[in-house]
Amino acid sequence: MTNRKLIAGNWKMNGSLAANEALLDALLQGVGAPGCDVAVCVPAPYLAQVQGRVAGSPIALGAQDVSAQPQGAFTGEQSAAMLNDFGVRYAIVGHSERRQYHGESDEVVAAKTAAALARGITPIVCVGETLAEREAGRTEEVVKRQLAAVIHVNGHCISEIVVAYEPVWAIGTGKTASPEQAQSVHAVLRAQLHHAASEHAAGIRILYGGSMNAANAAELLGQPDIDGGLIGGASLKAPDFLQIIAAAR
Ligand code: PEP
Repeated sequence: MTNRKLIAGNWKMNGSLAANEALLDALLQGVGAPGCDVAVCVPAPYLAQVQGRVAGSPIALGAQDVSAQPQGAFTGEQSAAMLNDFGVRYAIVGHSERRQYHGESDEVVAAKTAAALARGITPIVCVGETLAEREAGRTEEVVKRQLAAVIHVNGHCISEIVVAYEPVWAIGTGKTASPEQAQSVHAVLRAQLHHAASEHAAGIRILYGGSMNAANAAELLGQPDIDGGLIGGASLKAPDFLQIIAAAR
């Protein structure tokens, strides 16, 4: 089974009203009828701006996080229902920067995944090992533990989730996993999905993220178990992001 690929940009904490306008102008002009699904995951204050700009285009709107809680005294958080108000289609969950700087555990990531699914938002669940874990030969154990936490979210089919393999040592460092390194971890994740939900495993998209750029995208995206990309830095440069989209067919 070949999945339609998904190319999702993660703008992280970058942008301004003016910079977003310029980036979106260029993306909307260049995106045409892409041969893959496309999304931009933007900072929460810009959801309304980007929603207005991408409406009716092939670019879907994504958030970078979602609260595990439905509402209430959780200062600074955004609920899935609030994201619904802005037509958000995807939410990144468990990004390594959230795990590292905000202490998000596998349990919190699972609760956020459930909160997104309950509101019809597709979680892009990030898993990935640190350099120390890779060097200690623990890559498989770490990514399997992280994926296991979200595999049995109550009442939802695992096929509603997108998985992103993002080796922490490759994020924002310019060090990309080689296509072989990435494929071998993707194959481990696919096998785990197959074991948990054999009839759906082939249809679950597993993205690669970690310094994917215009030059290396085609080779990474050509691997059998790489179904798209989660793109940080290169998603802020329209020509680069458009080239990655063009490589995803
Ligand atoms: C990311 O933040 O998800 C990411 C993959 O970043 P970069 O592409 O900059 O490594």
